[in-house]
Amino acid sequence: MVLQTFDVLILGGGPAGTCAALRLLSLGYRVALVERESFPRPQIGESLSPGIRNIFEYLHASHLLTRHNYLQQLPAKVIWETSTAQTISPQQRGPGIMVDRGLLDKDLLELAVDRGLHLFQPASLHGHGIMKDGKWWAHIRMDKAFHVLMATFLLDARGRDGTDHAHRITTAPPTLALWAYTPAQQMPNETLIEARDDGWTWGSPMPDQRFRIISFMNPVKIRPGAIADVFGQTLDKTQLFRSVIQNWQPRDIAACVVSNYVHAVPWDERYIRLGEAAFSLDPLSSSGVEKAMRFSLQAVIAVNTILQSGDEQLARWLYERKLIDAVVTHTRWTADYYARAWTNDHPFWKERATPFISDKNIHTNFHQTLYSSFTQTPVQKATSRKHGSYEEEDICRLWDEPVQLSPALTYQDWPCIVDDIVQIKKGIFHPNLEEGIAYLADVEISPLLINIPGNATLGGIIDEWSKITTYKGAASMALFLWEKDILIQRQC
Ligand SMILES: Cc1cc2nc3c(=O)[nH]c(=O)nc-3n(C[C@H](O)[C@H](O)[C@H](O)COP(=O)(O)OP(=O)(O)OC[C@H]3O[C@@H](n4cnc5c(N)ncnc54)[C@H](O)[C@@H]3O)c2cc1C
Repeated sequence: MVLQTFDVLILGGGPAGTCAALRLLSLGYRVALVERESFPRPQIGESLSPGIRNIFEYLHASHLLTRHNYLQQLPAKVIWETSTAQTISPQQRGPGIMVDRGLLDKDLLELAVDRGLHLFQPASLHGHGIMKDGKWWAHIRMDKAFHVLMATFLLDARGRDGTDHAHRITTAPPTLALWAYTPAQQMPNETLIEARDDGWTWGSPMPDQRFRIISFMNPVKIRPGAIADVFGQTLDKTQLFRSVIQNWQPRDIAACVVSNYVHAVPWDERYIRLGEAAFSLDPLSSSGVEKAMRFSLQAVIAVNTILQSGDEQLARWLYERKLIDAVVTHTRWTADYYARAWTNDHPFWKERATPFISDKNIHTNFHQTLYSSFTQTPVQKATSRKHGSYEEEDICRLWDEPVQLSPALTYQDWPCIVDDIVQIKKGIFHPNLEEGIAYLADVEISPLLINIPGNATLGGIIDEWSKITTYKGAASMALFLWEKDILIQRQC
């Protein structure tokens, strides 16, 4: 057996594992990946949210989204907040995409191999990896042969298989999903979503001329042979799917219980969890793939920070903070969305309409920090303006305004990401900011604020800042600070 050494060994070749591999390869690392299944393998989760596009662009993989007749920008018919159907145009929905996950995951993995990934597939870890002298050692079995791999990091991207139940912190009640396919020509060429009193049903055309229908409900015991009846009853309760069940005998109905959780120990001695091995989202969001990939990019920054600067504590702090932010935000968003359904006085909806993160058996620091963040009241933002947008007429109106810094502004050390490495910079803090900010428009902000003169006007500040960034960047920074009451009117 020959020993092969890598910087990073990844377990699992779904979107989370492959996204991490692609990014690590582009940063110049030696990466190996072990995938248990031969690809393409069947995989649910084909409806990709619009945000997926900029991740593929960032990975130089956008061309993979235009293959295999993937369906771009479908309209949707939705029965949710009222009992009547609303049509949502592709423009209102944003540029989502319906893919074949088996093929997309295969294409992504092949792209990573083209870019230098050492792939072991189909292969599995023999026993557990072992940490010895600061390195992970793993025995991989492939084609009846063993390979010994050594790596500085082990990234666990095994999806739901990567979390045992004992380590799951529950973030919502479990939901039963039943799904089947009908020929696409029987159905409209649009995504359908409908709230029922005992759950909800989603359907969409697929790239392969089939139409997938999934019904979600509270888990029930289904006696053998009765699954088609239970599935049919859910469709019969709807307006949008009822007609299809009258002429269709669904067969090959698949079922799974979807649990929502976050892992209680997502980071453990250079063993880092990604994607659904770290956390899962309610399928309501249709953004599991996007969030899994986005989070992998954060994990890569943590790995890169440690390999470049050795600051493990800082890297881990940012990784865990990003994970907590993602889980808390999603949990609140999902509960709010369930609460808005017109059927919300039924038990299925009531159970899901209040955000929930389990406080049972808190025995890890991560769980404790997650729970404290969840129970904190979110900051009320002073304005809805996003940094980066401004109106020229606002600038003209405020140009001669005498300004000064708010007395509530403070400066503290704040971790931020510069060139794919977590670094400590001086951040600005203010009651109207959700968290510290170190950079605005790619410019470090605290040195600029510290140097604002006592006789400043808003226009004078924009002129000054235009010397180090564009006029547009300077104007949007100044207006953002004005609208957050960080720059305030000065009494002359
Ligand atoms: C019912 C349902 C509907 C969903 N619908 C959507 C949707 O419409 N849109 C959306 O964006 N998301 C959806 N999701 C979520 C989405 O599927 C996941 O977020 C996404 O697949 C997570 O990617 P991942 O890479 O973490 O895991 P996976 O995609 O599960 O990949 C994990 C990989 O690890 C491999 N593996 C497992 N064990 C081992 C091992 N021991 N050794 C080596 N390899 C191993 C597996 O074979 C697999 O290839 C849905 C989920 C469910 C349950």
